[in-house]
Amino acid sequence: MRAEYPKVLCPNVNVLCFSGHDPTGGAGIQADIETIAALGGHALTVITAYTVQDTANVSRVAAPDFALFQAQIEALLADCSIQAIKIGLLGSTRQIPEIVKVIRRLKVPVVLDPVLRAGGGTMLTTRKMLAALELQLLPWVNVVTPNAAEARWLAPGAADRDACGTELLKWGARNVLITGGDEPGPAVVNSWHQKNRAPRRFVWPRLPQKFHGAGCTLASAIAVLLAQGHSMAAALQDAQAYTHETLKRARKIGHGRSIPGRLP
Ligand code: PLP
Repeated sequence: MRAEYPKVLCPNVNVLCFSGHDPTGGAGIQADIETIAALGGHALTVITAYTVQDTANVSRVAAPDFALFQAQIEALLADCSIQAIKIGLLGSTRQIPEIVKVIRRLKVPVVLDPVLRAGGGTMLTTRKMLAALELQLLPWVNVVTPNAAEARWLAPGAADRDACGTELLKWGARNVLITGGDEPGPAVVNSWHQKNRAPRRFVWPRLPQKFHGAGCTLASAIAVLLAQGHSMAAALQDAQAYTHETLKRARKIGHGRSIPGRLP
């Protein structure tokens, strides 16, 4: 199985992950740790939110103590070299300026997975959080990876998917990868949007199950590949291929959706 994984260009990379804790282990910080380890990197982890959830849906989200969050960041920055940043579910808008400070200090690739709604339907964001993501965070992001519904929430005035991509580029994200796992159809169509270039589409066979944690897996795979020195094109392609493999190996651990098989 390992042979199918992308080649590690630069070993010993650390990826700083700002993510929520999902007790099922399907999404959130555990998805980041497993993905980054499977692809040859190391995850440094700062928890942004605790959740109550099962493999079907999220019922509660709580932010951790803010001073603890700040102290964890400081301790990591003082000690470890960091080659990329991955941001997932956020617990409060106060966390965003702290994360921006880290981005400005480190100047490494930043991947944002804007987790706005759980696959099971629970909204995980507010109007205030949406505005803060767009105004404060998107300008610092190398690639943002919304699913199609999240892209529409972030760009409510856009007429179609390509217009959503253009709108998110206007907020300042340098690359936008809109995923289509949440849309109907015989194939999953993802699209890569960049300024002054035609969008590029990636088409993947649709697998029969429903998944929990696919978006986190994809975003952390992109982050570790960028950390290792891959180009954006290679990172997006190989991260999708890796994620597709993990979905083919998905495990049904509960009564809801299956979780990706990320470890070799
Ligand atoms: N919980 C956490 C902590 C997450 O980060 C995410 C998604 O990124 C979810 C739940 C929802 O995952 P899904 O939509 O795949 O069920």
